Amino acid sequence: MQILYKSTRGGEKDISASRAVLNGLACDGGLYVPDSFPKLRVSLEDLSKMNYRDLAYEVMSLFLTDYTEEELRRCIDSAYDSKFDVPEIAPLHKADGAYFLELFHGKTIAFKDMALSILPYLMTTAARKNNITNKICILTATSGDTGKAAMAGFQDVPGTEIIVFYPEGGVSPVQERQMRTQKGENTHVVAIKGNFDDAQTGVKKIFGDREMNEEMASHGIQFSSANSINIGRLVPQAAYYVYAYATLVRDGVIKAGDPINVVVPTGNFGNILAAYYAKQIGLPVGKLICASNENKVLFDFFSTGIYDRNRPFILTSSPSMDILVSSNLERLIYLIADRDAAKTASLMKALSDGGRYEITPEMRAKLSDFVGGYAAEDEVFATIHKIYTKDHYVIDPHTAVAATVYDRYEKKTGDTTPTVIASTASPYKFARNVLHAIDAAKYDPMTDLEQFDALHEVSGVKIPAAIEEIKTAPIRHSTVAEIGEMKDVIRKMLGI
Ligand SMILES: *Cc1c(COP(=O)(O)O)cnc(C)c1O
Repeated sequence: MQILYKSTRGGEKDISASRAVLNGLACDGGLYVPDSFPKLRVSLEDLSKMNYRDLAYEVMSLFLTDYTEEELRRCIDSAYDSKFDVPEIAPLHKADGAYFLELFHGKTIAFKDMALSILPYLMTTAARKNNITNKICILTATSGDTGKAAMAGFQDVPGTEIIVFYPEGGVSPVQERQMRTQKGENTHVVAIKGNFDDAQTGVKKIFGDREMNEEMASHGIQFSSANSINIGRLVPQAAYYVYAYATLVRDGVIKAGDPINVVVPTGNFGNILAAYYAKQIGLPVGKLICASNENKVLFDFFSTGIYDRNRPFILTSSPSMDILVSSNLERLIYLIADRDAAKTASLMKALSDGGRYEITPEMRAKLSDFVGGYAAEDEVFATIHKIYTKDHYVIDPHTAVAATVYDRYEKKTGDTTPTVIASTASPYKFARNVLHAIDAAKYDPMTDLEQFDALHEVSGVKIPAAIEEIKTAPIRHSTVAEIGEMKDVIRKMLGI
């Protein structure tokens, strides 16, 4: 079955998967969505016997229908190889009564690697298929992890440039150092004087800026996006939820067909939407539990039906979730509006004009698969401490947001369905906060470098290559810019 894509705002339709991957965002500012949901061709039983790559092919080929089998398998094989430090690619770890799906075994030790290690292959394959000869310039706003993972993926990929914008002071020291030491002749990093939403809004405006796009085209350049709005990021993410399920079947925890719940620490709503897409293609998922930190705009949305970004932006210990405009929610809004693009567009206009919109009771009724929850900072630290003390398992603050929300959900509902918690970052990426939670008096006085060794002792987990690397790599990027200067910075970096 051929799957075509259309914009959530109605401005484009009948777009092939490879075109949607190339374009990133639709020209009307909408997000590409499949015109219908395909269904898994292989039984859950058979999926449980597959390795990660073969299973990923089964899932991704349902959505990326204009890629040939050979093309797609080559993309998958190139992405999910020894760059990952475990052969399972996305292993499950049982602790505290749940199954932590470790999505941080890639190059930059956060879950963004799961999609961004394949996106460059999907994109360059798409360019070839569509006879594109322009240079592709990836523009990316990052709350910390996307930027590094995208640069690692696109580093020195022929025919591409990548420019990453991050909020100055809004990312962790490890995240910042990872980005500023990025190698590659085609990688560029800019610290923006603003928060993540400012950076993301700035990038989205540039994508929609006709003059700027024409100016680029006259230099043989076209923009694309590596943000989670790109369908080429969403689809690879659906694969690991199917893989988690398959692992539970293989391990005898569940029988094929039994339901599982999924808990996802959420920012831009990409990761949890991928779980929802996995459910749409036939994965038996019961509840999708959306966990927010103190920037709980999504919790409020699920509780009230009102999305309101007009509130203080809080910097937390889970910076990759410090987001007030969750871009991918638009894809869910479109579905619960019964694929009504005009309605979706008007809600999104209300969001960009006044920072707020309210959905109808009919739309709310379609959200019953979702449960919203949030965790306060002190709870996040307490959860890290508890799971370490109880099960000797060390989790990062993002994952701890999810674990906290899950704990509360289970106590409140008594729902004992086997539950997968998306574990989105290695504790090494947030070593200071993690060790603070475990024993502040002992670890707070240590330097960053001492902390990595301490975390090794505490967790028994080997120091990842990504950490070894930043200990010694030289700083290569030092640009700082105002939001209003983004276009000029881009011109300068592209030599225009
Ligand atoms: C990006 C990120 C998230 C949030 O994921 P979304 O897809 O934006 O909801 C959570 N945790 C970590 C560590 C991340 O890097």
